[in-house]
Amino acid sequence: MSRVLLLGGTAEARALAAALVGRVEVVSSLAGRVADPVLPAGEVRLGGFGGAAGLARWLRERPVGAVVDATHPFAATMTAHAVAATAEVGVPLLRLSRAPWRPVAGDRWHEVGTLEAASEAAAGLGDRVFVTTGRRGLGAFVPVVGRWVLLRSVDPPEGPVPADVEVLLDRGPFTVAGERQLLRSRRVEVVVTKNSGGPMTAAKLVAARELGLPVVVVRRPALPTATTVVATTEEALGWLAERGLA
Ligand code: NAP
Repeated sequence: MSRVLLLGGTAEARALAAALVGRVEVVSSLAGRVADPVLPAGEVRLGGFGGAAGLARWLRERPVGAVVDATHPFAATMTAHAVAATAEVGVPLLRLSRAPWRPVAGDRWHEVGTLEAASEAAAGLGDRVFVTTGRRGLGAFVPVVGRWVLLRSVDPPEGPVPADVEVLLDRGPFTVAGERQLLRSRRVEVVVTKNSGGPMTAAKLVAARELGLPVVVVRRPALPTATTVVATTEEALGWLAERGLA
């Protein structure tokens, strides 16, 4: 079966889809959260499957040679569903997850496990906080009295935006010069990020380092064990080629 289901929403997933189109039938799946998503090449389906059971049903109805889970490192629910559904249906699964960022000399990182812990850690580091962890997590940062928040997200947060929150709608890739300018113009004192990894959004880390700013970094959720994991599109292509799927 020369069809691949690619669970996407990342630059790596788009790169893999582009490489596979014309070689095999590739169906990219997006959650449909972003109003105007960057669409991958080839066939695209939008929206949830209806849990692990729904994904298993989809895989029975549209058999594939393999599933590549190239969702974001923080999309832990989808990753768990992919593991459960492919095990149930008996389909090979590959996890494509870019390497996490690592601190280098000059970085002032504070690593935490949750958005709530990130909010608490940021409170001890500054009153002007640049939040880059997504619009859905804004609630973790707003209850702190005396804090000003710059939220950068692809789509606006739902509901009214508190007076001490500035929303900046933008999506990567970002440049160091742009990030430096943003941090300076908003007089940011602390940056909050997930450890997403990859080059698209890494410039803020460089700019924060240059300006001597602390960065609160949310650690990645643990991956389900017993999954083959690769970090690059090329490795994913190699894995698929071994199965006659690339
Ligand atoms: P999540 O919490 O792991 O997933 C929640 C639910 O969304 C899943 O149970 C599934 O619904 C649906 N879903 C997620 N990814 C899907 C996909 N690729 N195709 C179809 N359904 C999907 O995921 P999330 O953190 O909300 O992320 C949603 C999407 O945004 C992911 O595709 C991810 O790659 C992308 N993204 C996430 C982040 C982040 O920081 N979390 C950042 C950038 C991009 P059902 O149970 O109904 O199947």
